[in-house]
Amino acid sequence: MLKGLEKDITYLKGVGEKRAKLYAKLGINTVYDLLYHFPRSYIDYSAPVPISQAILNENNVISGTITRKLPPARIKNDMVIYKAVLTDFESDITITIFNSEFMFNKLIEGESYLLYGRVTGNFLRKEISAPTILSESVEEKIQPVYSLTEGLSLSLIQNAMKNALKVLDEFIYEPMPKHILSQYDLCSLHYALKNIHFPKDINAYETAKNRLVFDELFLLQLGMERLRGNNLQLSGTIMKDKDISEYINTLPFELTKSQIKAIDDCVTNMCGQTPMNRLLQGDVGSGKTAVAAACCFMAYKNGYQSALMAPTDILATQHYNTLSDFLEPIGVKVCLLKGSMTTKKKAELKEKIENGEFSVIVGTHALVQKTTVFKNLGLVITDEQHRFGVEQRSILAQKGKNPHTLVMSATPIPRTLALMIYGDMDISILDELPKGRQPIETYAVTGKLRERALKFIKERIDEGRQAYIVCPMIDDSESDLQAVSTYVDKLKETCLRNVNIGLLHGKLSPAQKDRTMLAFKEHKLDILVSTTVVEVGVDVPNAVVMLIENADRFGLSQLHQLRGRVGRGKYKSYCILITDNPNKESCERLKILSKISDGFKISEEDLKLRGPGDFFGSRQHGLPQLKIADMSQDVGILKKAQQAAKEIVEQDAKLQKPENKYINEILQNFLYNLIAI
Ligand code: ADP
Ligand code: MG
Repeated sequence: MLKGLEKDITYLKGVGEKRAKLYAKLGINTVYDLLYHFPRSYIDYSAPVPISQAILNENNVISGTITRKLPPARIKNDMVIYKAVLTDFESDITITIFNSEFMFNKLIEGESYLLYGRVTGNFLRKEISAPTILSESVEEKIQPVYSLTEGLSLSLIQNAMKNALKVLDEFIYEPMPKHILSQYDLCSLHYALKNIHFPKDINAYETAKNRLVFDELFLLQLGMERLRGNNLQLSGTIMKDKDISEYINTLPFELTKSQIKAIDDCVTNMCGQTPMNRLLQGDVGSGKTAVAAACCFMAYKNGYQSALMAPTDILATQHYNTLSDFLEPIGVKVCLLKGSMTTKKKAELKEKIENGEFSVIVGTHALVQKTTVFKNLGLVITDEQHRFGVEQRSILAQKGKNPHTLVMSATPIPRTLALMIYGDMDISILDELPKGRQPIETYAVTGKLRERALKFIKERIDEGRQAYIVCPMIDDSESDLQAVSTYVDKLKETCLRNVNIGLLHGKLSPAQKDRTMLAFKEHKLDILVSTTVVEVGVDVPNAVVMLIENADRFGLSQLHQLRGRVGRGKYKSYCILITDNPNKESCERLKILSKISDGFKISEEDLKLRGPGDFFGSRQHGLPQLKIADMSQDVGILKKAQQAAKEIVEQDAKLQKPENKYINEILQNFLYNLIAI
């Protein structure tokens, strides 16, 4: 890999087999791994506070000279306490060291030291216990703090790191081509690694970090470019007829500007030499289906079939309804294929799909079954892609000859994250809602106001509207949760006793879910109590209240998704978030929702609050664990890294030029890890 640095960690002085095992626990096996074990934080010894100004009961950096070492005091259980007095020639402080004769012996009367530790005591008498002690003449005034594991102390890792940096001195090498370094004003890797661990000063740290963040994001982008390159096979379904005006003219509404733009992007892609590979991102209610339908119509006009795959029966059914509404009047035949249908019915449908009788086929993962054969599949659309494995998507795509793909996501993802996760795709964003939508009034309240909220729901029901109530869990294994089934029983004791309540949860069969959902849609039910199965795209315009119990258990983006279930019709709509969690932070978090209605902005907030790892569960998204880059902070560097990656790939797609040799090697390794996730 990296010449010289791939050496086993035991190559370092002071690291034997036993310690190597401990390092392995931290994921460190080689010198390289150790160098890339970046500090969690730093202690800055460059500006000690006068002892008199040390903040009591907190960690402080102080400095001074040892005036006196006291005789050790042995107390029971073999505990020995060593004390010494330090002065900064203004005030004194007692240093207390527990059990470590070694450390105590290192202190010399008359010598000066820098100390870091918790200062206790009072105005008159101060004490610093078990401090970290450095000689005042130490060069590295900013000291790294690392994640540790039992048996590996901070000073052990610091020492190993110093040795690793010496190895680095011997093998100075620079993987990044010179022209990138100068164009993006980056320091050398050697400087960066030295100063990320032992920065000379804050500027050196910033410079070092900038380089390492750049490297990481640059590799990620190169990886994405490579994946994208792999996608660039010739399309088997180049389309010529771009005229979809018949579709646009028969729509019962006017498309928004961003819908028109997205449709344009897709049309252009579908006429291109390489298959479309596009992500359509839009907030709930932004009208993604209308864009998808336009693509289906385009495929139809060019003699191709389209398949739309949705994650649940409910959603598939709904897409089917919408697409039929849009497309059947202009002669496009649409069918619905679900796993829950009878074998006979499915067989019938599959035959017609194979004959080409249907041009648009909507379904759940039943679509990817072997027995589903298309006549000439030209377009594959998936909804809510993170619920499908990449595998399922590609199986579906293999049912055509490199068909075009469009992925719809109703989860607004901050642009930075989208670039990470979907970097191998082009992205269209629907960032405006159709005209005339009213904002949803949102309230975050405590359980004390539950009765009032229920009464409010009752009044809306009396006006002929409907409501959703969401509870996070199905059974009452966690007693403090409002479990759905017992929750419904409780509702019967409130003002809602005489309304029709339906229950939807994950343990119902798809057919049962469909039946309940349909009953709600047809207004046979006034209230739908549910777990988060309603989260994705269900459309009931008559529902005007979304009440969410234990709201603090959800992420902001998820709450926003749930809120998007109401406000889909002409009626004023409301979202009530109930939480009994007195935690101030969680209340603040919920208040964000009452203030912001733009899903993208909310997801940015969510990202800031929870970090990218937690965002959806990184594994689900295949989001790589980054070591140093922070995607909510480093957008600026990301853009540069992306540009640099693009430039390199344009000139040397396979990274075969000598100057790109190292990068290619590192990238192999990086991609390997990326795919392993
Ligand atoms: P999404 O899937 O993005 O949440 P949908 O495609 O389900 O949104 O659209 C939500 C509702 O808005 C649907 O009833 C749809 O018919 C309607 N709609 C879509 N585009 C427009 C538009 N430009 N103007 C008015 N209504 C629209
Ligand atoms: Mg939708």
